[in-house]
Amino acid sequence: METAGTQAEKTVFCQSCGMPMTGSELLGSEQDGTKNADYCLYCYENGAFKQPGITLEEMTEDCTRIMVHEGMEEAAARRILADSLPHLKRWSTLKTAE
Ligand SMILES: [Zn+2]
Repeated sequence: METAGTQAEKTVFCQSCGMPMTGSELLGSEQDGTKNADYCLYCYENGAFKQPGITLEEMTEDCTRIMVHEGMEEAAARRILADSLPHLKRWSTLKTAE
């Protein structure tokens, strides 16, 4: 096992909601129980997205609510999300449909 606790230089962000996954307990899981390092446990569990039909807009709304709840101004939260979410793996692949 890797030594846990001192991984500040390499924080992994969920490629769906952008949440920093600061510990392996926050990682999503595959059907066989292994961890998925791309997505957090709130987005991805047992090999599937928990909200498979969610759109980028709906994800932005959800994340805005959470960040405001945590004390951030809504405008600031929306700006951060608009800058970050579209670049995440789950959403950036949508644009290749063109
Ligand atoms: Zn997530």
